Amino acid sequence: MPSRDSRRDRWWVDTGRQTFWATLQHPRRFWFGGDLDTLPPDKRDGLIAAQVEATRPAFSAIVGTGGLVLLLAGVLEAAGATTGIGYGAALTLAAACGVIAMAVALWRLQKWPTRLTLALVATAVTGVFLSVPLPGVPVDVHARVGLFNLIPIGLLALLVRPLATWLLVAVFLLVALLRVMMHGAPPGGPWLYWLYTVAIIAFGLLLRGYRTGFAVEAYRVRHQLWEQANTDALTGVFNRAGWNRMVVLHYHTAVEAGRPVSLAFFDVDHFKRINDTWGHERGDEVLQALGRVLHARQDDRVWAARMGGEEFVVLLVDTPPEAVERFCHRVCESFAEAIGGIGTLSAGIAHGVAGETLAQHLHRADAALYQAKHLGRDRVEVDASGRASVD
Ligand code: GH3
Ligand code: MG
Ligand code: MG
Repeated sequence: MPSRDSRRDRWWVDTGRQTFWATLQHPRRFWFGGDLDTLPPDKRDGLIAAQVEATRPAFSAIVGTGGLVLLLAGVLEAAGATTGIGYGAALTLAAACGVIAMAVALWRLQKWPTRLTLALVATAVTGVFLSVPLPGVPVDVHARVGLFNLIPIGLLALLVRPLATWLLVAVFLLVALLRVMMHGAPPGGPWLYWLYTVAIIAFGLLLRGYRTGFAVEAYRVRHQLWEQANTDALTGVFNRAGWNRMVVLHYHTAVEAGRPVSLAFFDVDHFKRINDTWGHERGDEVLQALGRVLHARQDDRVWAARMGGEEFVVLLVDTPPEAVERFCHRVCESFAEAIGGIGTLSAGIAHGVAGETLAQHLHRADAALYQAKHLGRDRVEVDASGRASVD
């Protein structure tokens, strides 16, 4: 019997393998980088931006490594330990420093067109100075070509945007073409040379497809877990954790911006009696109905959460007091209708007051709900104190 941990780890194994086979089997994934297209546009853009950020240090490091290899080639040439390819040690060292500077800039700069241009220029400079001899310089460049080819494999594996990927492939092919045009094919012949070149690109793209596919899958699972952690499974509105994490944040942001905030507590009347009369399952359906009624009214100014049992709280931002009261009456009516009149709802409202804490505000809404219960239930009461009276 596998332990809980090893079953959890199994997710990585299964996802990793499935992603690999899917990358091989679906040309779109292979050539365009994972199944980013399967995400909704806003999520896809968010994930692309996050991946660009995440790979930024590694991407700069690979470009910088190209610069370091070029630097060492220049040093070896200056020391007479290796033959140059016509540019001279001084120019090679200058080019190496330029590439390293571009690698640092890639790390620090934000604008992606500038970063893309730098990445392409740095790759081209590294390729030319490391592996394309000047005309008429007879030299064996096999080791140099091998060293340079490590760079595109690494960069392709990390690239996210299709445009950047294909432009880098183009730069890489141009450097390879320049080499054969100036010096002819190497001893193995042109077929082997181009097979080698294409295999390098394919390796890079395969790694890219695999990495992106895995990122999309991990993103999906993370999103799912987030939903589960913050949503009440029975009713579909926020649970208490979701309230604390999301709604409280919206509350404070709105208060800091000086926007009006109101809180409304809802509580099913005599819910215990509903459970006792109709059964616990019917009781659950009643809660689900209230969840649906509230969920349908959620937007970027209205957030609802189940605080426990049959008690719900709603935050309303930028909503005038009369509209908040209308909102609550409508929720009560829709709820009673949705459950076929077998129960009613009470609500307590407190409109925000400058200077009070969230706890004080919640307390006033709760007190208004208590008042609604006290006055006979099936009604909406508004806290009249209008100021922090507690805590
Ligand atoms: P009041 O009008 O004063 O609010 O009375 P009430 O009966 O609604 O309030 P009380 O707090 O006495 O009872 C709440 C009941 O809600 C008790 C509990 O068994 C039930 N309950 C809590 N969570 C759930 C749930 O998830 N499903 C169901 N079916 N019942 C629940
Ligand atoms: Mg109740
Ligand atoms: Mg209650």
